[in-house]
Amino acid sequence: MQNIPSESLEIDRKARVYMPYHDLSLRPPTERVCDFGDVTIALDSDRAMLEAARCIHCPDPAPCMVACPCHNDIPSAMWLIEQGRYVEAAQLYRQTSSLPEICSRVCPHEQLCQGSCVLNKTHEPVLCGPLETFVTCYERKTAGVVLPASKPTGRKVALVGAGPASLGCAEQLLQQGHDVTFFDSKPAPGGLLVYGIPNFKLAKEVFFCRWGDFEKAGAKFVGNTKIGKDKTIDQLFAEGFEAVFIGVGVGIDAKMEIPGEDLPGVYEATDFLMRANTELNLLPEHMRARPAIGKRIVVIGGGDTASDCLRSALRMGAEEVTCAYRRTEKEMPGGRKDRKMAKEEGAKYRFLTQPVKFIAGEDGKLAAIECIEMILGEPDAKGRRKPVPVEGSNFSIAVDTAIKALGYWPDPALGETTPGLEVHDWGMITVTDRETGATTRAGVYSGGDVVTGPDLVVTAMVGGRKAAMAMDEYLKSK
Ligand SMILES: Cc1cc2nc3c(=O)[nH]c(=O)nc-3n(C[C@H](O)[C@H](O)[C@H](O)COP(=O)(O)OP(=O)(O)OC[C@H]3O[C@@H](n4cnc5c(N)ncnc54)[C@H](O)[C@@H]3O)c2cc1C
Repeated sequence: MQNIPSESLEIDRKARVYMPYHDLSLRPPTERVCDFGDVTIALDSDRAMLEAARCIHCPDPAPCMVACPCHNDIPSAMWLIEQGRYVEAAQLYRQTSSLPEICSRVCPHEQLCQGSCVLNKTHEPVLCGPLETFVTCYERKTAGVVLPASKPTGRKVALVGAGPASLGCAEQLLQQGHDVTFFDSKPAPGGLLVYGIPNFKLAKEVFFCRWGDFEKAGAKFVGNTKIGKDKTIDQLFAEGFEAVFIGVGVGIDAKMEIPGEDLPGVYEATDFLMRANTELNLLPEHMRARPAIGKRIVVIGGGDTASDCLRSALRMGAEEVTCAYRRTEKEMPGGRKDRKMAKEEGAKYRFLTQPVKFIAGEDGKLAAIECIEMILGEPDAKGRRKPVPVEGSNFSIAVDTAIKALGYWPDPALGETTPGLEVHDWGMITVTDRETGATTRAGVYSGGDVVTGPDLVVTAMVGGRKAAMAMDEYLKSK
């Protein structure tokens, strides 16, 4: 429900539809490709007020609110921004989102809030995402951000993984007064916000500022600890934790199962992106070096991770950066926005191309990739046309570095070491109810990518928030 009822607004919808629209300003491709800094140019106060005033305040429920996985009250926020009440707008976002400064930057808005804006029918959508970034930034600079915590209940909860799902869960549990401790196999918290999403999409300082709010509210972090290997979930219960949330994501890169996959010069996307984008002191000790790349790079795969690899490689100084994808652009799974930016920055695309072998040079390092041409065959069960190899069409591409960005699998460790915890598909956690994230083991809840499969920051965060409500009930009922 909207905080500001639409019938109380005296607005001229028609006039608003025809207000001038200015697209978000981006740094020019030739400039932005020289560093890992933010690609977008932040809105200023005047632009923010004008842009928010373009909202025509659709009757409740507004399509943008429905499309937002956390159902942010976007129309009311637009109304507050238009009047310069930025801190109130930011606080409104914080009622429904645990990470508004992050989702505002990384959400695929063109598929969610902005994609559903009714102005799309005749005009351009309101820039909901950049406006959320503007107000949360303004709030932090002027009023500060405090994560509200209640009187301590003395109840201890363990969160396994410290990515968006666990952060969403912890933020709600802290507000209920519970004592939260994150355990993560990485040295620092954040999950893919720190160890995956490149800096040009999300600067690490944005995450660490928000993390500071969690610490001030009492959250504890234990790094370099893999649950299921260094410690089990049963041990966490034995240590006095009364409930456990599993938000471990899907961190294992899919393999190609072709010859030469282990050659020096062939990288997995996660390893490449982590070492290209994360400060070395935040990386696990064995990874503290930038990836050694040559001049010619081929990224294999077609999703958003492939776009992130292409754009990171360009920023690292590679001269020829090519994406090899086995279908055509039409079937590509990734968002159009990231691909457009990758193209603007100089990435090339080779469609209907399937690598079949990595070939070593005399020095034993990767020197070429043997590929085969593909054609599109019959649609599969999901209606996507299957790529079929063209016999005898093999050819070679000379390369220095290959990056495999093919998808992700869960780690089976937790399923294997937690009695009573049902898993499926090699380690995805089975939840008995998606609304509560309850698993088959009493007191253990789960959410995020390890439940849904690879998805979005916002959906993982929402999964964690929902589980927190159920965990609070569980703790109170004990
Ligand atoms: C390269 C890349 C770019 C992306 N870009 C975007 C984007 O622009 N926008 C968007 O919305 N989404 C994006 N995503 C998807 C998004 O990052 C994920 O959907 C989201 O982070 C999932 O959150 P999560 O908390 O479930 O898992 P994660 O973020 O993966 O966090 C899981 C955490 O659990 C830890 N962990 C794993 N196993 C254990 C264990 N056994 N014990 C202790 N800790 C463990 C991991 O170290 C990790 O820190 C991207 C994903 C990738 C890979």
